[in-house]
Amino acid sequence: MPTSNSHQGFVHSIETAGAVDGPGIRYILFLSGCPLQCQYCHNPDSRKMKEGTLKTVDEVMSDIKPYISTLKRMKGGVTISGGEPLTQTEFCGAILEQCKALGLHTAIDTSGFHGMDVDGIFLQNTDLVLLDIKSSLPSLYKKITRVDLQPTLDFLHRLSELDKPVWVRFVLIPELTDSEENLRGVAKICASFPNIQRVDLLPFHKMGEYKWKERNLPYALEHISPPDAAAMERARTIFREQGVVAV
Ligand code: SF4
Repeated sequence: MPTSNSHQGFVHSIETAGAVDGPGIRYILFLSGCPLQCQYCHNPDSRKMKEGTLKTVDEVMSDIKPYISTLKRMKGGVTISGGEPLTQTEFCGAILEQCKALGLHTAIDTSGFHGMDVDGIFLQNTDLVLLDIKSSLPSLYKKITRVDLQPTLDFLHRLSELDKPVWVRFVLIPELTDSEENLRGVAKICASFPNIQRVDLLPFHKMGEYKWKERNLPYALEHISPPDAAAMERARTIFREQGVVAV
């Protein structure tokens, strides 16, 4: 179950001028703690909640405040990512609430695994959900993440009922997520929900590999290279065949 109180939580890091995690320029708050163990995680140092820095909501908001006018001018806002931000539901929800009160656009970047645990107010204070769908095949999803796919799909249904804007993210990994069956399945999910406004097809990269080595963790994808342009185009074609434009 998600654990945190509303006044303080564990922060992994921040980025003050993110350009891809939501519209416009974003202040990105990366929270620590994640129940998944993705084979391709580029931030394995963000998985253990208590390895983050303990901060109060007030401290986080004080850090965001100098950027507010720039974020608004650049049509951006605040994105809470991780780790898995919904692992610290109350802390995350309190920050979203305060950002909304300041007139900022808000987003969460999540696997959706804890999506059914958040309350309606949390979602009211969230303008956009960036939802990672790591596979459409339950067995492959479990192989990649060590958890079940169903909570993510349940969360997507819930967001659809609320007509909450969603951007789906899917990582193309040669030899792992690139089968036609898997790609078609992800594309079909994306085609089924009118509240999905955008689909990001992201190439697997190995920028976080050194973090696995530093931590003496076995990196299962050592032998896999990032997909080339042809592989990305093949995947986009499979999405297009289902009526989905993946960018
Ligand atoms: S959900 Fe994100 S932070 Fe968690 S293990 Fe997967 S890639 Fe890493």
